[in-house]
Amino acid sequence: MSDHRKASNRDPACLFCKIVAGEIPGDVVHETETTLAFRDIQPQAPTHVLVIPKAHHTDAVAATRADAALMADVVLAAGEVARIEGIADSGYRLVANTGRDAQQSVGHLHLHVLGGRSLQWPPG
Ligand code: IMP
Repeated sequence: MSDHRKASNRDPACLFCKIVAGEIPGDVVHETETTLAFRDIQPQAPTHVLVIPKAHHTDAVAATRADAALMADVVLAAGEVARIEGIADSGYRLVANTGRDAQQSVGHLHLHVLGGRSLQWPPG
């Protein structure tokens, strides 16, 4: 596996890197070699899980073609979370808030997996 997919690529100041390292607790629902999925601490729906690459990437803009396999790992893990949570058939939303205008609050790439209720569109 190439270096950019490994969790050793971490930012010691990053909250989600600390969850990956086990330095702060996370309610983990799914884990692969390259990804971690854990419940959001402030859930906005009955299912609200965050899926992250274990390696530190600030956001989708920071990702490059070299990260393509890792980005695929994250999306595939989100689908697996939906199956685990029992929302794959009813439907769910994947959200990647990116940057200031999208209110991204944690600078470690993450997909929100939201489901378990009827979701409104467009988001605010
Ligand atoms: P963002 O606003 O799209 O960057 O999403 C960051 C998410 O991380 C928010 O929904 C927060 O509720 C969530 N969050 C912040 N700290 C923690 C934590 O320690 N554990 C789990 N989720 C967290």
